[in-house]
Amino acid sequence: MQSVDQLYPLLDTPRKVVITMHQKPDPDAMGSALGLYHFLTQLGHAVQVISPTNWAAFLDWMPGSRTVLDYEKFKDKSEESLRQAEWIFCLDFNTLSRTKRMAPSLQQSTAVKILIDHHREPEVTAFAYGVSDISKSSTCEMVYDFIKGSGRMDLLNLSMMQCLYAGVMGDTGSFRFSSASATVHEMVAEFKHRGLEHTIVHEQVYDNFLENRFRFIGHVLLHRMEINYELNTALIWVTKQDLLKYDIKTGDTEGLVNYPLGIQGIKLAALVIDRDEKRKWSFRSKGGFDCNTFARQHFNGGGHFNAAGGESDDSLDQNLEQFKSIIKEYKSELSSY
Ligand code: 5GP
Ligand code: MN
Repeated sequence: MQSVDQLYPLLDTPRKVVITMHQKPDPDAMGSALGLYHFLTQLGHAVQVISPTNWAAFLDWMPGSRTVLDYEKFKDKSEESLRQAEWIFCLDFNTLSRTKRMAPSLQQSTAVKILIDHHREPEVTAFAYGVSDISKSSTCEMVYDFIKGSGRMDLLNLSMMQCLYAGVMGDTGSFRFSSASATVHEMVAEFKHRGLEHTIVHEQVYDNFLENRFRFIGHVLLHRMEINYELNTALIWVTKQDLLKYDIKTGDTEGLVNYPLGIQGIKLAALVIDRDEKRKWSFRSKGGFDCNTFARQHFNGGGHFNAAGGESDDSLDQNLEQFKSIIKEYKSELSSY
C-alpha cells in the first residue's frame, strides 16, 4: 500500500470515483464519505457514495446524503457504479468484510482501491494507496488531513465542515475521549474561524430521536441489564421482540452500550442485539481492557482498543451464555480497579 500522499499529483485529472464505508454507517463513516465527496466533486471528479446498508435517520441532514446509494436497496445501480469506477475510496473500515454483501464486488473490482482508516490491523494488501493510523480520532480527521495535505484548503466549505465535524464529534464521544488531541481541537478551531456553527450539528445528531427510543432505553436499562460487580462488567441484551415492540430503527440503539460505563467502577460494557439474521455485539471499556482483541478472539469482530464490535450466528441465549462464561477468564484484568 503506497502512501495516500502519492495521490495528490493525480487529483487534477477527473475520474470516476466510488466512496464507500462500513455497513450501518455511523457519523464518522458517513461524515468522512460525504466530506470527501464534496471535496472530490469540486475538483471535477464524478463521485458516487455507496453505503453497504441503510443508515440511521439522524444522518439524513448531512449535506449530500440524498445522493448516497444504499447497496442493499439499489444493488444494480450500485454494481454499475462499482464496475465503472476507476478509484474506490474505502473509509472507516479495515477489512473488506465490513462492507457485508458488497464485499465480493469490492474484492473482485480492478479499480484502484484507497484506504483511509483508523482501525487496528488493516487488510493492507487489499489497497493500492492508503493511510491507516490508529492514533487518529476519526476517519473525518484523516480526510481533513488529506485535504490539507493536498494544498486545497480553499475548497473547504460549510457542507464539508459539517460532515467532518459530525464524525469527529461522534468518534470522540463529543470530544471526551483521549483521542480528542490538540490537533483535533485545532481542526475544530479552524472550522469555527471559517464559520461552522457546531451546536447545529450536535442537535441534528443527538436531539433528533422520537419518544419511542427513550421508552425503549428505559425498558432495556430496567429489564435487560445485568451488572457483575466482581468483574466490573455490565451486560445488556436486546431481543427481537424489544425491537419490534418499540419500533426500533437503525441508529436508535446507538450509544446504548455507553450507559453502564457511567456506573462507578464499571470497566467493561457489552451489548448484544438480536438483529436480523445475526447477533450483533458492541464492547466498550475504560482503561486497560482491550476490546479489539476480545471481539476478535471471541466474537468474530474487532475495532479499537476501548470500542469494538462483533457478530455471531448463534442464538441470543447461546451468545449470553458464551459471554458470561468467557468473561470469567478475564477476572484478574477486570477486577483490579
Ligand atoms: P459499534 O459497537 O459502535 O458497532 O462499533 C464499535 C467499533 O467497532 C467501530 O469502530 C466499528 O467499526 C467496530 N466494529 C463494530 N462491529 C464490528 C465487526 O463486526 N467487525 C469488526 N472488525 N469491527 C467492528
Ligand atoms: Mn471511525
